[in-house]
Amino acid sequence: MIAKVIVDVPANQTDRLFDYAIPEAWEEMIEPGMRVVVPFGPRKIQGFVISVVNESEHAKLKEISEVKDVTPVLTKELLDLGFWLTEKTLCYAVSALQAMLPAAMKANVTKTVVLGNKANKEAAWFRMIETGGVKWDEFLSHFSHKELNRAIKNDELEVRYDVKEKTAPKTILSVSSTLTSDELRNEKEKMGNRAMKQQDIISYFIDHGGAVSYKELMDVLDTTRSTIKSLVSKAILKEEEVELYRDPYKGRSFKPSKALELTDLQQNAISPILESIENRNHGTFLIHGVTGSGKTEIYLQSIHRVLEQGKEAIVLVPEISLTPQMVTRFKSRFGSEVAVLHSGLSRGEKYDEWRKIHRKEVKVVVGARSAVFAPFTNLGIIIIDEEHESSYKQEENPRYHARDVAIKRGEHYKCPVVLGSATPSLESYARASKGVYTLIELLERVNKQAMPEVSIVDMREELRSGNRSMFSNDLFDKLKERLEKKEQTVLFLNRRGYSTFVMCRDCGFVVECPHCDISLTYHKMNGTMRCHYCGHEERFPSNCPECESEHIRFFGTGTQRVEEELTKILPEARVVRMDVDTTRRKGSHEKLLNQFGEGKADILLGTQMIAKGLDFPNVTLVGVLAGDAMLHLPDFRASEKTFQLLTQVSGRAGRHLLPGEVIVQSYTPEHYSIEMAADHDFQSFYKREMVTRKQFGYPPFYFLAMVNVSHEELTKTVDVTEKITSFLKSKLSNASVVLGPVASPIPRIKDRYRYQCMIKYKTEPKLNDHLKEIQKHFSKDISRGGLQLTIDTQPYMMM
Ligand code: ADP
Ligand code: ZN
Ligand code: ZN
Repeated sequence: MIAKVIVDVPANQTDRLFDYAIPEAWEEMIEPGMRVVVPFGPRKIQGFVISVVNESEHAKLKEISEVKDVTPVLTKELLDLGFWLTEKTLCYAVSALQAMLPAAMKANVTKTVVLGNKANKEAAWFRMIETGGVKWDEFLSHFSHKELNRAIKNDELEVRYDVKEKTAPKTILSVSSTLTSDELRNEKEKMGNRAMKQQDIISYFIDHGGAVSYKELMDVLDTTRSTIKSLVSKAILKEEEVELYRDPYKGRSFKPSKALELTDLQQNAISPILESIENRNHGTFLIHGVTGSGKTEIYLQSIHRVLEQGKEAIVLVPEISLTPQMVTRFKSRFGSEVAVLHSGLSRGEKYDEWRKIHRKEVKVVVGARSAVFAPFTNLGIIIIDEEHESSYKQEENPRYHARDVAIKRGEHYKCPVVLGSATPSLESYARASKGVYTLIELLERVNKQAMPEVSIVDMREELRSGNRSMFSNDLFDKLKERLEKKEQTVLFLNRRGYSTFVMCRDCGFVVECPHCDISLTYHKMNGTMRCHYCGHEERFPSNCPECESEHIRFFGTGTQRVEEELTKILPEARVVRMDVDTTRRKGSHEKLLNQFGEGKADILLGTQMIAKGLDFPNVTLVGVLAGDAMLHLPDFRASEKTFQLLTQVSGRAGRHLLPGEVIVQSYTPEHYSIEMAADHDFQSFYKREMVTRKQFGYPPFYFLAMVNVSHEELTKTVDVTEKITSFLKSKLSNASVVLGPVASPIPRIKDRYRYQCMIKYKTEPKLNDHLKEIQKHFSKDISRGGLQLTIDTQPYMMM
C-alpha cells in the first residue's frame, strides 16, 4: 500500500503529494488525515496522509517511519477544505492543513496507552495497563500495531495524548515596592545621573502598583535580574511568591439559564433560521440587529434546536469580545457541552479543548477565528457574531476569512450560517440586499429601551475657548454628575492609529524609527521611545535633534495619561484601567471587569478591548475621547471602521432600566461616519459609503487582490513590483485596474522596503493562475531569503 503525503516543508518545490510505502504492520491502520513521520532527504519530517492507494508510478519508495495518530486528526471534509483554502488563498497545502489544527500538534506529544470503555479483562495486556497505562513505545515493544489498532477500534484500549509543556509553577517569584510613590520619587532623585537602569525600575513602580514577576519586569524594562536584586537589597523592593492565575473557567460552576420567551421581533427573526435547520438546507442569514436587540438569545435558541437534532454548533466571536460575560452565557445554557477556544488558553489547554471536540465530548464550541475549523462531523449551524470584525481575516498564511470558510462548511453540512452584527460589513449587507444572503433586521432593543442619546463635541471649539484638557467641558460635567448619582461611566480611548509620538514644538520635527518609516511611540513607564514594528528603542531626547530646541514633547493620549488626568480633575473617582498593560496577566481581564461590575469602581477606562460585548446595568454614560482617531488611516475602510466602533461603544450605555447617554469628542465632528453613528443610522451610512466605494472602485463593487513585495534593497523592491505590475497588466482585461508599483503606506519596516501592487476587478476567472505564476517565477529569490512576496486575494490590512 502507498500513502500520498503532504510534507511539512512550506516551499514551492515541495507543495505537492509525495508517495511513501506503508510498512505491512501499519497497513490496516493508516488512514487519510493522519500525521506520519517520513524520511525526506537526509531528515525525518512530519507529513499528512492525504490518500491511501495501491500503486505508485515511482519505483523504490521510501517507507513511512512513524505514525503519529491513532485516529485521523483531519476528516475527509477538512482535508478537502484544506485544498480549497490552498486554491482560494494561494498558500501551500501544508499551511492550510496545519491552520486547522491546534498549535500543540506541532509540538511533542507523548502518547500513553490506557484502558478503554470496554476493557477486556482477558486480554494479554490487561495486567500491564490496569494500574494507569504504559507509554506507546513500550506497549509496541510487547504487542503489534495490528493488535493495538484492533483493540482501539473495539474500545478496549484508548490512547491518551499529553502535551509536553514546562509545567507552570503554581507561584512565581515577584517583587513589589515597599515605598509610596513619593518616597520612590525621592529615591530616584537621590540617584541623580547614576544607576539609570535601577531608576527605570523605580519609575515602573511609580506608575504601577502591586507585584510583578522578575521575568515580566525583565521583559518589559529589558533589564537584568541582578539590577532588580540590587533594589531588593536596598529594601526599596521586596520579594514575594505570587500565585499564578489558572484557566478562568476551571472548576467554575455556571448558574443554569433557561430559554427566554422571545419577543415578536425575535420570533420573526429566528423563524427562517429554524426553518433552515428543520429542512436541513444551507442558507446564509445576516442578522442586522442593533446592540441589545437580543441577537445572542436568538443564537442560543437556534443552537438549542440544533442540539435536539443531535447535531453540533460552532459560534465565532472576535477574540476581543470573548469576554467572560459572553462565555458565561453559553456555558450557562449548554453546560459541559461547550468547549471554549481563545488565545488566553495555554497551548496545552487549547489542545485539550480541541481533543474534547475531536472525541465528541462536546457539541458546541465558542471561539475566535480558528474555531471555524473545529473537527465536528455533524455540524448543524455556524454562527459568526460581530461579523464585520476584521479579526476574522487571518493576516498570515493561509490568508482566509472565517466567513468564507463557514459558508463552505455550511454548504457541505447543509446547515445554516448565521452572521450577526449591529454594523454589518458593507460586503455582507450588499449581499443580503441582493438576496444572496437572507436579511433579517432587528431594529429595536428588547423591551424597547431607547437607543442612547449621542452628542458630538467639537474639540476644535474647546481649544478655541481655552480648554486644553483632554476632557471637554460637557464630558467633565457629565462625569461629575454620574459620580454624584453613583452611576457608572465607560471611557473609551481609541488607540489604534493614535500613538503618543514625540514632536518638537518649535520646528515640528517628529522622531522616527531609523529602521522603519514610522514615528516612535513614547513610553512613559521608562522614559523611552519605541518602535512598534521592530522594537527599536531610544531614550527621550532632551533637545530636538533637528533644531536643538528644548521644547520637545510627546503628543497624543495614552490610557495612562487619561487616568492621571482623571485623578487630578476628579480625585474622588475610582478608576479601573483596562489596556494591554493592565491585562497582560492571565485572568486579570476578568478580575478588572468583575471589579467594575460589582460597583467597586466608578469609571471603566480602556481601549478597544472594552468596546464590545460588555453589559453592565449601571452604566449610563459612555465617553469617547478620540472619536476620529481611525478616520485618517490610509485604508478605504477607515470610515466604515469609525462608524462601527462608535456604534459599538455607544451600545454599552443604557442597556437596562437606566437611560444612557454618549459623548463623542472629535476634531472632525462633521464627518458622515461620526454624524450617522451618532444618529444610529446604519442605512444612511450604508448608502453614503456605497457611493464612495463605487466612485473609487472598492469592495463591494469591485474585488481586490494585493501583492506586497519587500526586500532590503529599494531598487530590487521597485523592480520586482514593476515586473509584477506589468505582467498583470498584460494578462488582465481592460475592465480591471492594476495599481502599482507604489510604496506601501509604511514604506519601510525593519530595514526592508515595502512596495505594493493592487488589483481591482469584477471578473477575472484566471487571476489566481496568474498570481500563482508570479509566485513560481520568484520562488528562487524567495527561498534564498532575500525577497518576500505576499499575495492576498482578499486584503484587509492596507498598511
Ligand atoms: P445583542 O446580542 O443583540 O446585543 P442580547 O441578546 O445581549 O442582545 O440581549 C440584550 C439583553 O436583553 C440581554 O440582557 C438579554 O438577556 C435580554 N433579552 C434578550 N432577549 C430577551 C427576551 N426575549 N426576553 C427578555 N429579555 C431578553
Ligand atoms: Zn526642533
Ligand atoms: Zn522600527
